[in-house]
Amino acid sequence: MPRTLDPELRRALVARIRYYNEMGIYDFYRQPVSESTISVSVAAAVAEIQSESGEEMSPRNTAVVATQVEEDIFEALAPRPEQRVSDPVKALKIIREDLGDCTRCPLHEQGRKQIVFGVGNPTTDLMFVGEGPGADEDEQGEPFVGRAGQLLNNMIKAMGITREQIYIANIVKCRPPGNRTPEKDEIETCSPFLFRQLETIQPRLICCLGAPAVKTVLGIKEGITKIHGQFYDFAHSKALTTVHPAYVLRNPREEKILREDFEKIREFLNRK
Ligand code: URA
Repeated sequence: MPRTLDPELRRALVARIRYYNEMGIYDFYRQPVSESTISVSVAAAVAEIQSESGEEMSPRNTAVVATQVEEDIFEALAPRPEQRVSDPVKALKIIREDLGDCTRCPLHEQGRKQIVFGVGNPTTDLMFVGEGPGADEDEQGEPFVGRAGQLLNNMIKAMGITREQIYIANIVKCRPPGNRTPEKDEIETCSPFLFRQLETIQPRLICCLGAPAVKTVLGIKEGITKIHGQFYDFAHSKALTTVHPAYVLRNPREEKILREDFEKIREFLNRK
């Protein structure tokens, strides 16, 4: 817990964060801290660090400290419920319970039969992120069980691993009608649950299947056929971009893209 935060400000912040938590909100966007917005309490933290290290801090370092202090505050004051448990199975259960019988976005009243949360091994090295449940997934409550899922399973098997060894989830947990691409507001509403799954599982590698998953997880908007097969940093993990299996079903000649990218996954996982 940071000692440097003004007690008055801290009280107000705690009250506000509790209020949001009670509404089920755990994600907060932080604006970058400019020098002029460094509060007295943060300036005190800087002074404390300076006196400990005996070094003058450059403005850049000062801003970094300010940001870190603010992040510490949020982490200390607004831990997500699953962060209180160390067992990822329990943590995922907490996230699922938090999702509940979700009515947060319009998809809940557009014909979904059930929420498709995610499936697999919560301590896996490899997690796949797809777009959203289709008709089969909506029926069975499990991601990637239809035709695209069969292709994904074959690709996984070809790497010498089983579906049970990995984890699979989608950027939205409810079926978009007619298998349309999820809308921006649907993704924005639902993706915090995916990010909580990613943070809980912390796989070595996240494989983003298709452009919407790439855009949601990595914020990259470029065409997937252009940027497939590339590795990026994502928090404690690496992330690989590839095409969606459904795209390959529609364009069978593109199967080699998926094969090549899955070969990269295999090589990555074999590296220690
Ligand atoms: N396509 C996806 O993106 N996800 C699924 O779960 C099934 C098909």
